[in-house]
Amino acid sequence: MVAAHPTDLRKALNADEITPYFQPIVELRTGVLTGFEALARWRHPIQGPVSPDIFIPLAEENGLIGILTRNLLRRVFTVATSIPEELSISFNISPLQFGDRSLSQQISSAAKLAGFSLKRLILEITESALIGNMDQAQSIAQELKDLGVSLALDDFGTGYSSLRHLQALPFDELKIDASFVREMSDTRESRKIVAAIIGLGHSLSLTTVAEGVETTEQAEMLLRLGCDIGQGWLYGPPVPPSDLAAFLSTQSLSPSTGISTKTNEG
Ligand code: C2E
Ligand code: MG
Ligand code: MG
Ligand code: MG
Repeated sequence: MVAAHPTDLRKALNADEITPYFQPIVELRTGVLTGFEALARWRHPIQGPVSPDIFIPLAEENGLIGILTRNLLRRVFTVATSIPEELSISFNISPLQFGDRSLSQQISSAAKLAGFSLKRLILEITESALIGNMDQAQSIAQELKDLGVSLALDDFGTGYSSLRHLQALPFDELKIDASFVREMSDTRESRKIVAAIIGLGHSLSLTTVAEGVETTEQAEMLLRLGCDIGQGWLYGPPVPPSDLAAFLSTQSLSPSTGISTKTNEG
């Protein structure tokens, strides 16, 4: 992995080198496309692609996460207004951002500017984001809900105090971490854990989303276990905004049921 430097990151932000890609999210039962998750991408002019697992923490440590998030929000909302409005947009919020009192204000003004309806927005929060100041997290979460935003608990099962967070915050969606999905086919224990997470989610009236779905075997197993939604290479990798129109042309639109996947030729 490359050793990205904060100076490079600052330059990249000024040069708009960090852009959102969009990964499809589908209903497991029907294959119907329900939305996209926006994932940040940085192509360093010399070093090439830098993983968000590197540059997001780098941005956090160097006081750049606010600018980066604002930048991405603006771009994501603009792209979102050019795709069918029944499609949701999931956006990752960094731990530090979720402790920022002005978060909901920033989101609502960026949405207004782009003409994007916040009913389409799902904010994904990782568990570590919530540790520390639960009172503040609760009031920020409520402000976001009042704006019509949905909340997802990301990477469920890998962080701390998962169950406490599920209880304390008004989540709509539970994203099962890809590591569980990966191990699901290998051991009965991990299959049982996935089943238990899905059951827990449903008993709390949450939509369950499986991350890292790579094979039809995994998709079928998840469906049997009652999981609602899937995301992963099986349905498509994250693509740049310029590829969205082509991707969407492989999906058929139906006014009453939203979007459904066309039968794949060949
Ligand atoms: P995440 O939110 O859990 O995103 C899912 C990650 O799984 C993405 O990695 C995605 O590319 C990858 N993925 C999707 N399908 C598959 C699959 O079938 N198999 C496997 N093995 N992986 C799959 P990515 O894009 O490298 O992002 C890594 C993490 O960086 C994200 O995890 C998220 O926590 C963070 N991140 C990405 N974009 C942003 C952003 O704009 N803001 C913030 N705050 N964090 C971001
Ligand atoms: Mg995510
Ligand atoms: Mg995740
Ligand atoms: Mg993750």
